[in-house]
Amino acid sequence: MAEVEGQVRDEKLDAEREARRQIALAQVRQYPDPVLRMAAKEVEEFDDALRGLVDRMGRLMQEARGVGLAATQIGILQRVLVYLPAEEAPVTALVNPRAVTTGEELEAADEGCLSLGSATVVVPVERATTLTVEALSPLREPVRIEAEGLEARVLQHELDHLEGILTLDRTTPEARRRALGELRPRSVLGSIA
Ligand SMILES: [Zn+2]
Repeated sequence: MAEVEGQVRDEKLDAEREARRQIALAQVRQYPDPVLRMAAKEVEEFDDALRGLVDRMGRLMQEARGVGLAATQIGILQRVLVYLPAEEAPVTALVNPRAVTTGEELEAADEGCLSLGSATVVVPVERATTLTVEALSPLREPVRIEAEGLEARVLQHELDHLEGILTLDRTTPEARRRALGELRPRSVLGSIA
């Protein structure tokens, strides 16, 4: 009996989490929103507004169940990204990030995107397995990250967003066609509403 109650409680929590995820996703710009194609500008003011933006992005990313989010995805064209470097790691925010070295070894893996119907549209993307990024923290401290594996992949995905590049541009022609087919019915519904 206790087990059943536990299950019910879990289900209720899951439903609440799912509702929060949908609310967060509704604040993320969805393809084909033209802002997703625009390049973000360097941040010049390291003020409370910037720190407020970073906090909001971190919350949205976690509620949307993402591992990374670029400011472009919430319609703000500033070079700001947040991401989770590892599963249990705290949210890391990078301001004016740039890749200083990109490893030569490439690896293909499936990627979802919060701007492409969340995790439902997944395409294979080839990325460098190692990457060094230099950036500033929201407090204007220099940050240098030597990333590999999933962390390197997430950083390349978010850096692409800041340039207006999507996974659709980096995948195979077949996967792109399939993804656009999956996205189309949603776009049509969106234009009716
Ligand atoms: Zn994305």
